[in-house]
Amino acid sequence: MPNKRKPANRNGNRGKKKPDNRGRNNYSQSSKKVNDIHEIEYTDGITVGELADKVGRQSSEIIKMLFLEGKMVTINSPLEDETVELICIGYDIEPIKVKEREEDSLEVENTSDEEKLEERPPVVTIMGHVDHGKTTLLDTIRRTKVAQGEAGGITQAIGAYQVQINGRKVTFLDTPGHEAFTAMRARGASVTDIAVIVVAADDGVMPQTREAVDHAKAANVPIIVAVNKMDKPDANPDRVKQEMADLGLMPEEWGGETIFVPTSAKSGDGIDDLLETILTVADVKELKADPSQIATGSVIEAKLDKGRGPVATLLILNGTLHQGDPVVVGTSFGKIRKMIDENGHELKSAGPSSPVEIIGLNDVPEAGDMFRNYEDEKEARSVADRRKRRKIEADRRKTTSVTLEDLSAQIEAGEIKEIPVIIKADVQGSAEAVKSSMEKLDVSGVRVNVIHATAGAITESDIMLANASKAMIIGFNVRPDANIRKKAEEAGVEIRLHNIIYKATEEMELAMKGMLEPVYEEVVIGQAEIRETYKASKVGTIGGCMVTDGKLRSNSRIRLIREGIVIYTGRLGSLKRFKDDAREVLSGFECGITVENYNDIKVGDTIEAYEEQEVPVE
Ligand code: GDP
Repeated sequence: MPNKRKPANRNGNRGKKKPDNRGRNNYSQSSKKVNDIHEIEYTDGITVGELADKVGRQSSEIIKMLFLEGKMVTINSPLEDETVELICIGYDIEPIKVKEREEDSLEVENTSDEEKLEERPPVVTIMGHVDHGKTTLLDTIRRTKVAQGEAGGITQAIGAYQVQINGRKVTFLDTPGHEAFTAMRARGASVTDIAVIVVAADDGVMPQTREAVDHAKAANVPIIVAVNKMDKPDANPDRVKQEMADLGLMPEEWGGETIFVPTSAKSGDGIDDLLETILTVADVKELKADPSQIATGSVIEAKLDKGRGPVATLLILNGTLHQGDPVVVGTSFGKIRKMIDENGHELKSAGPSSPVEIIGLNDVPEAGDMFRNYEDEKEARSVADRRKRRKIEADRRKTTSVTLEDLSAQIEAGEIKEIPVIIKADVQGSAEAVKSSMEKLDVSGVRVNVIHATAGAITESDIMLANASKAMIIGFNVRPDANIRKKAEEAGVEIRLHNIIYKATEEMELAMKGMLEPVYEEVVIGQAEIRETYKASKVGTIGGCMVTDGKLRSNSRIRLIREGIVIYTGRLGSLKRFKDDAREVLSGFECGITVENYNDIKVGDTIEAYEEQEVPVE
């Protein structure tokens, strides 16, 4: 909600028919009227042209004014708050910032009467370790349970499908795995009502099973465990139950709350039980929607089709979508030219929890974007235009996850009660050790909540989880590569790296207390990849490298990293370009190195060079 939508409009004479008709240049105002403007409202991303209109001046005047301040802008440049203030002060006008206008938000307040609410099908995501049978399960369910009367229809892969069981529907998202699930969540879309975690009974809980459990828990989605491959002779469902119980998912029959369903995705055994269990869990959640409302929901997937243009699969969460409806999807818009279901059937309308593929958008939206329909195409277009502009603005600022520097301020302001943290370590034992020492911290009632702690390198999936959960990542004896660092930076996720447990805990505690001392921060100056190795009797193993990022310096401190894990920490022994000693070698160049006191260099290893610099912490 805007904090102040319509303040007393003291000028009162701008002759605008609609108060929200912003953004059009209107130079017709006389200077007398201009002088009457004492305050203006603006939103994020207001452009020079729009501000000129609001303050009743020519855009060129403002462009010139900013030019004299050393800022080069055009009529379409979005302005920062300080710049808007600067301009307004010049005209003796008070700028009042209002939040995104209500009608530009695609969220629609649910005003349904209780009696208009109808049950809606649950939306289910299937997750689990690779090869445990996610895809087979989705295929079997789809093949054996397609909605009645649809058998024989040409199935289309649109990213989601519905099946019928006992006359009730269940919607499955067709992209298995927690990565897609969390990527959607990071974009603000929580479409999944229930997570089915598939565990192969002959293999048991594996790393991605743990990840899936943590991702589903972080999203607060109920979990059903499908104990799959029960047809295999070495299937051991009790082991799966025990291992899942260790992760906090205690089976019902052992007094817990998690339902375990034995299945064979291959033979189809247990699939009915699984679907019935899904419906039982859905009943507990009392999933409801009002088909008479404005249609809202999220994008499941979207692509540019050569023949049809932008194509998007939307999952309707509330209301009813009709063919011909003007829609805004993320920052794109259009009139729905055609709407089909997963069986390729054209639909005139579709209600809550239905996945539909639509064409008619002007641009390709992103998975996780929200959508809603409008009465009026023009309105849809202008909402989408404004949303697009604001997105560009917002991308520049980015919402960041919690960082150590602002932690104590947030704690003091009562903004956070717990600090979400993801821990990645070289071995599971140290991940557990860091976890338990972090969880012991308590500063004025604020605690650390470890949402995920496993062994292994920091991955993109960790960054997505951190982003979706506003968490920070603590790396213990692991090093993110340049790509992961970049991804973390883009997502505004803080990564703290340590190799001594008490230092990691101490840093967190001091940050919570707002007593973080100026520290020496390591600055990674470059990375190189070992492409070949040769042994020289005098100097030991020489690594032939390619500098892939930044640079190496002859006196660099370095880490030797193998598959994301730190193998050795030390210094470069020598750095050579061809036969000569080099002081530094830049990205894109080859060089030969030795590592001081260390010979076990292997092809594929990464050499990370770093320096220590003092950074004052506020
Ligand atoms: P995903 O990586 O989790 O999507 O796993 P897939 O669905 O691709 O399955 C991996 C392998 O396990 C494939 O060869 C499947 O045929 C097999 N598989 C999946 N479910 C079962 C099952 O219930 N029983 C048996 N015996 N094999 C299965």
